[in-house]
Amino acid sequence: MAAKYIFVTGGVTSSLGKGIISASLAKLLQARGYSVTIQKFDPYINIDPGTLNPYEHGECYVTEDGAETDLDLGHYERFLNVPTSQSNNVTTGRIYNHVITQEREGAYLGKTVQVVPHITDEIKRRMLLLGQTGEYDIVITEIGGCVGDIESLPFIEAVRQLRWELSAHELLVIHLTLVPYLKAAGELKTKPTQHSVRALSEAGVQPDILVCRSEYPIPLEMRKKIALFCNVKVNSVIESLDAETIYDVPLLMRKEKLDERVISKLKLTHKADPNLETWKEFLGRLKNPTAEVNIALVGKYVELPDAYKSIIESFVHAGATNECKVNIKWFQSENITTENVAALLGGMDGILVAPGFGERGFKGKLESIRFVRENRIPFFGICLGMQCAAVEFARNVLGLQDAASTEMDPDTPHPIIDMMAAQKEITQKGGTMRLGAYTCELKKGSRASSIYGKHKISERHRHRYEFNNRYLADFEQAGMLATGINPETGLVEVIELHNHPWFVAAQYHPELKSTVLNPHPLFVKFVKAAMNYAKSK
Ligand code: GLN
Repeated sequence: MAAKYIFVTGGVTSSLGKGIISASLAKLLQARGYSVTIQKFDPYINIDPGTLNPYEHGECYVTEDGAETDLDLGHYERFLNVPTSQSNNVTTGRIYNHVITQEREGAYLGKTVQVVPHITDEIKRRMLLLGQTGEYDIVITEIGGCVGDIESLPFIEAVRQLRWELSAHELLVIHLTLVPYLKAAGELKTKPTQHSVRALSEAGVQPDILVCRSEYPIPLEMRKKIALFCNVKVNSVIESLDAETIYDVPLLMRKEKLDERVISKLKLTHKADPNLETWKEFLGRLKNPTAEVNIALVGKYVELPDAYKSIIESFVHAGATNECKVNIKWFQSENITTENVAALLGGMDGILVAPGFGERGFKGKLESIRFVRENRIPFFGICLGMQCAAVEFARNVLGLQDAASTEMDPDTPHPIIDMMAAQKEITQKGGTMRLGAYTCELKKGSRASSIYGKHKISERHRHRYEFNNRYLADFEQAGMLATGINPETGLVEVIELHNHPWFVAAQYHPELKSTVLNPHPLFVKFVKAAMNYAKSK
């Protein structure tokens, strides 16, 4: 069967949750036995979000093949349990880059290169690409931004053209809108939805299904009104109420029969009911915790939790596995000092020092780590968090004053964390870190290998700096063991403290691989350690 294409657009406002709706629909279709993938088309000019500040765009999610992508791809993987790749995230920048490179190579000799058809042709080619691999029955494409934005026009135009190029049952458009409640009027309002559908229609695209975000149930009469003004059937007006957790959304969409509408409009054949048993079991455990822990997340982007999206979700998965409610307490590392660290972190059951870049907040991270190391509180370090743990150990246990990472102090006498020679030659900023999946071997008898239950793992990376093996022997002698090593390069991937209840840090990003079906073992065991610590207090 040729792949079917579903496009998800958004209107009225951003942040309505197109990513979650797309992932939820994909989950329902996958649970019926279809093979589904989701891709995101982003309207900005950056080639990828790797060069964006997390404050602006939230976390940068990294795929197995080393693409730096939008955080929505994390939701896709967490819901579907299927890896995404470079092809699943396309930006306007990438499209233009390709077309302009072609132009320089003479591909359009003699022609004027234009938005229509050259840019839209390249957009369409990318939109269809994953569907042509033969791997997928259904490709869902989420279009970033809002209908009516100047930036997203070429994407909408590409969808308009595809509507005519593909046959009637091969393509479907879902439009996500908002039905706001006006307190003063005491009413839900449909006008923004009408306007947003009109804007989409003016661009030549009539949506097939409307998903209406609302804080209150949308009564039948109102759905009829929306249907009438927006040229859709009443049963294609789907209500999407605020959910207790994003993981409820597939079940809410099932109740609203979103999947059934999609199946009948695309004339999909196989009609088994979705099998959501494991999903429901997960929700059952998530919503009925029997324990509770407080985990400190120490980082510098804590004002915008989206910057740590995958870490937060990994704790949700790990909490459910342990039937434990994980309360994440946010700590701005800049505010942590020798004087206040005990007061701030003393009540915590576990402390995670987050990934990050740059010098700001570095000292606070070191203080936090010293505190948990000395007080035997469970500690989990990720990427920069692992590098900080190494520096803290060098300074306070090995007595190497001024030990540092050369990222923070290029002239340090003790470069515990340093840039690899190959990285030093790179001057370009985008896509030049150590990115994507690398193998790691875990030492027999280590805590890491018992956590994973195996000796060979593969995890995703996003960093420039590495542990400096010149110091390895001294570290191990003093009790900080390197228990995960990249077998090809000898680079240190995991360190753990020998005589501590739970002190593990990884150079890679385990949070990028935690899914509902496969919660990450490091998070699961870290939460378990925090539970044990809480009990022992
Ligand atoms: N800034 C550090 C590096 O580049 C860590 C990066 C991270 O935490 N992702 O190596």
